[in-house]
Amino acid sequence: MPLFCKECNGRRLPIAFPEERDALWLCEKCKNFVNIKDEIIREWTDKEIEENKVKLENFNNNVTIEKTPEIKRRSGVN
Ligand SMILES: [Zn+2]
Repeated sequence: MPLFCKECNGRRLPIAFPEERDALWLCEKCKNFVNIKDEIIREWTDKEIEENKVKLENFNNNVTIEKTPEIKRRSGVN
């Protein structure tokens, strides 16, 4: 698993993309993605960096308001 970046030893984050079968692993420091085999797929684009910032800000602002959907448990199943 490409959990750590080969270049900076930083922690990579798994990012899911609807168009990709598997999640890609992002190094926020080196700004690139690798696949599950630790092969560099592409750069982290400026647009995505911007979007990520906005998402984080929204997340921090809404974290107390936003409700997470409740996980439904079926009774009678372990
Ligand atoms: Zn790195």
